[in-house]
Amino acid sequence: MKTVKDYIRTIPDFPHEGIMFRDVTTLFSDPRGFRMAVDQLLHPYVGTKIDKVVGLEARGFILGGAIAHQLSIGFIPVRKAGKLPGKVISQDYKLEYGEATVELHDDAIQAGEKILVIDDLLATGGTAEAGIKLIERLGGEIVGCGFVIDLPELGGRKRLEALGVDVKALCT
Ligand code: 5GP
Repeated sequence: MKTVKDYIRTIPDFPHEGIMFRDVTTLFSDPRGFRMAVDQLLHPYVGTKIDKVVGLEARGFILGGAIAHQLSIGFIPVRKAGKLPGKVISQDYKLEYGEATVELHDDAIQAGEKILVIDDLLATGGTAEAGIKLIERLGGEIVGCGFVIDLPELGGRKRLEALGVDVKALCT
């Protein structure tokens, strides 16, 4: 039987020469692959109290939306700067070259709510850490962070675990 990893393809030299891009569109477009990914991301949290799913732009929206629907709970987007229409809080984080900013609506999460964070891939952990900081600034409590892919050599898991966050990934 195929595993989640079997549905992911690698595109060399995207978006820059020397980068091996892990492309999950082939996982999402396959009916078995997509269901497998959503079910496996959900599985560790069945029976756990979760109030909202936060998805990180952009592929975290696709997975996080499906997971929130499955749990019959709400979905909240963490977006790149300038995309959300309401009042936001912002968090800067470092990229390999330069900086980026992510934002969250300031009324999206109530203090004490239990939050599951979802994205497609964990690399350095910078994006997820910025999302976690936004959630925690509103008083949200992180139940866990789920990813389809973890690139362990880039240290993201260790970085998030150092914050006390439970990290789960479907493959490396
Ligand atoms: P990090 O902040 O952990 O260094 O990078 C993770 C973010 O970059 C995620 O939001 C992820 O979608 C994106 N990303 C970086 N490299 C890849 C890749 O090879 N494939 C995919 N699908 N996303 C990537």
